[in-house]
Amino acid sequence: MRVLLVDDSKFVVKSLQTILEQLGFEVVGMASDGHEALAQFQEHHPDVTLLDVTMPNMDGVECLSRIKELDADAPVVMLSAIQDPDTIDKCLQLGAASFLKKPIKKTSPADLSRLSCTLEEAAAKVV
Ligand SMILES: [Mg+2]
Repeated sequence: MRVLLVDDSKFVVKSLQTILEQLGFEVVGMASDGHEALAQFQEHHPDVTLLDVTMPNMDGVECLSRIKELDADAPVVMLSAIQDPDTIDKCLQLGAASFLKKPIKKTSPADLSRLSCTLEEAAAKVV
């Protein structure tokens, strides 16, 4: 499965890239803000986008709505350390497949399993 990885923290991107590749996913693109994410999305047409909420320039919520304008069926999984109910509601209304809590630790089997299952489910929702 081809994944686009978006987070303004280089550390998070690097760490998730390693984790995803170990889990057997292919990371086709990486971006650090919403503008880069949109460009990468249009270039790579990923099977699923893993999208951080809090980023400079264009945040994940705005980026999510723009991705959905480009492709209403595109599976997008939101990623955030903050579990704000209003933000989660808004993202789900905009069509996010799911919401994952950071950090995702490569030493935690529960985190790895949750990440893997969430991405698989998000991609499988596409008709
Ligand atoms: Mg962030």
